[in-house]
Amino acid sequence: MPEALEVELTRQAMGVLVGRRFGAVERTDPLVVGDGVDVAVPGCSVESVGRRGKLLVVGTDGPTVGVHFGMTGRLFVDDGPAIDRLAYGAGGDDRVWDRWVVGLDDGSQLRLHDPRRLGRVWLEPAVGTLGPDVLTLTVSQLTTALARRRAPLKAVLLDQRAVAGLGNMLVDELLWRVGLDPHRVASSLDVAEVRRLQAAVRRRLPVMLRRGGSHTGTLSPVVRAAGGPCPRCGELLRRDTVGGRTTIWCPGHQR
Ligand SMILES: [Zn+2]
Repeated sequence: MPEALEVELTRQAMGVLVGRRFGAVERTDPLVVGDGVDVAVPGCSVESVGRRGKLLVVGTDGPTVGVHFGMTGRLFVDDGPAIDRLAYGAGGDDRVWDRWVVGLDDGSQLRLHDPRRLGRVWLEPAVGTLGPDVLTLTVSQLTTALARRRAPLKAVLLDQRAVAGLGNMLVDELLWRVGLDPHRVASSLDVAEVRRLQAAVRRRLPVMLRRGGSHTGTLSPVVRAAGGPCPRCGELLRRDTVGGRTTIWCPGHQR
């Protein structure tokens, strides 16, 4: 599933859209594409492609367009995938799963390919309701995000209004790396623990971004599926549900 890293890779690849003009909408799916998009977008020029958390924000000389990728959404332009092969989704490119196809003024197309149909395209996304972006997260922002929150640490980190961009795999990887128990009450972290977590976010995520995404951590999909011993301390990894999500963690060194 796309987390901030996958959407950032998409944002970088979608830079090629800047300066191009949208033409006719060639295919649309009302479940995925919000009201007014198909009327407003044709004729608009793309001025910027930004991101907050998992939200892609396409600025035009008309409306701003938000794209959320759900579980399996991918954007293609010029018939090349924004990310060659993602760890999520079927990996294929059967056009039957294209949910939104818009022509571009140079004859190419922008396509939202989404087998699971959980992606969304809509106008004027409320970027301000999202928390600070995880890739530039400061100690002060993380402190604010966790303050007075009685929910489990993992649940708060997954809350996009607290911190924008973390998903299930990244949270498990970061908490494993800094040795924090995902069940901890979020507000119980002391100053040193918050600093350690923020440092891991800022150091680790760029490494995983360069490697290609959320699946490149030590707790890779293979390690997650296998269970087995903790790669750091050898204790058996545990699988729990925290914040409604399957959570892999180590009772040996995560406290
Ligand atoms: Zn361990």
